[in-house]
Amino acid sequence: MRQDDRVIVVGAGPVGAVTALALVKKGIPVTLIEAEAEPPEDQRAATIHPPTVEMLAELGLKDEAFADDASGGLLSPIFHFRDRVTGELVAVFDISLLEGEVPYPFVVQWEQYKLVRAARPHIEASGIAEIRFSTKVTDLAQGADYVEVTVAGAERDSERLRGRYVIGADGGRSTVRRLSEIEFEGFTWPERFIKIGTSFDFGATGRGFCTRNYFSDPNEWLNLFKVKGSGPPGIWRGIMPVPAEESDEQALSMKSIQRRLHGIHATHGDYGIPYHALYSVHQRVAATFNKGRVLLAGDAAHVNNPIGGMGMNGGIHDAMNLTAKLADVWFGRAGPEVFDRYTRQRLKAQVDYVQAQTIQNKRSLEEKDPVIRRKHLDELRRISEDVKLHKQFLYRAGLFDSLNSANAVE
Ligand SMILES: Cc1cc2nc3c(=O)[nH]c(=O)nc-3n(C[C@H](O)[C@H](O)[C@H](O)COP(=O)(O)OP(=O)(O)OC[C@H]3O[C@@H](n4cnc5c(N)ncnc54)[C@H](O)[C@@H]3O)c2cc1C
Repeated sequence: MRQDDRVIVVGAGPVGAVTALALVKKGIPVTLIEAEAEPPEDQRAATIHPPTVEMLAELGLKDEAFADDASGGLLSPIFHFRDRVTGELVAVFDISLLEGEVPYPFVVQWEQYKLVRAARPHIEASGIAEIRFSTKVTDLAQGADYVEVTVAGAERDSERLRGRYVIGADGGRSTVRRLSEIEFEGFTWPERFIKIGTSFDFGATGRGFCTRNYFSDPNEWLNLFKVKGSGPPGIWRGIMPVPAEESDEQALSMKSIQRRLHGIHATHGDYGIPYHALYSVHQRVAATFNKGRVLLAGDAAHVNNPIGGMGMNGGIHDAMNLTAKLADVWFGRAGPEVFDRYTRQRLKAQVDYVQAQTIQNKRSLEEKDPVIRRKHLDELRRISEDVKLHKQFLYRAGLFDSLNSANAVE
């Protein structure tokens, strides 16, 4: 293999890892570059929607995703919408209604770092991949038939790596996107979101919580989800808004964290808190996902609020779409104009579905007007009680619709 006859993937988060794996499976050599010393134990994404489960299975990660031990995910067909003010269970959605229509009629609650860990040995075993940790992309240049990235690493201050293409999967603050001068249009919400993980078992409170619960509340909406963590009884994660006037320091103080969890369920004593984090939340989409030999995927190309669990899923859908097209170009079956189609397709998925849906999800959970709020909740109940509407809702919430409509774009 010539050293420059490869694709350089920047960022070994879930999207970079899936991109690298999909490429090596197609026989395309990859250098995967990651700034951190090892894959970070990132506790952001966990919800993997059914079409994404299908993609991971296609990549050979099914055994890992479905593993019974803590390294695998929780299979979760049901999700709830609840009214946090009254405690009412408003609507129960059941993805297993799609049994026989889709191969995986459930969500897998699998923390994103476990996906990265699962992908890594497959990438390494291909024999055509090199993974470089503690290596950061600092500059980028492209010529007619190559792209060159400058990297700074633990061993050398500066080194240049050439490849045929570079894929920026380096997250929301993407250096690849910035160096390529691609606009990242959109807005930032004034409030931040706090995520609190607890070892307390909300499933044992007798309140009927399932693995994924969305709570509407004009004062403090809530997402309460379960993951396996490092083993039984697992970890419950609450995501809530932090108003603009509350400082980071206040929000991250143990007093506020305990108050927020006691607001969900008043228990005796303190909650065990294995992790917590505060996030600024954005809705932004890159002006293009391809510029010459530079391609963007995942958060580098788009960011959204996490209500509905669509960011990483959308990024994995980018990765699968992009790597199929890149293989066609690599092996001479198509010209580089297919990358324009990649942008058209995945921009549509983002703008029409992921951005629109996550903004709507947030607005509906936080609605303050009691009449509109009641209308939203009644509508959710009505949808859940009608099989046809229920299924339509699942196809949209599970990102099937976004994939299908994107794939139909020429
Ligand atoms: C609270 C919360 C909950 C969420 N839950 C969900 C969910 O359930 N489902 C879902 O689909 N999405 C969810 N998301 C969104 C999801 O976390 C992101 O969409 C996902 O992490 C994006 O993956 P990525 O690989 O594109 O980027 P990242 O995960 O950000 O990975 C980028 C990688 O690039 C590396 N990097 C950065 N710069 C450089 C550089 N210059 N050189 C080399 N390496 C570099 C970073 O170290 C990092 O490892 C959630 C987000 C939040 C905040």
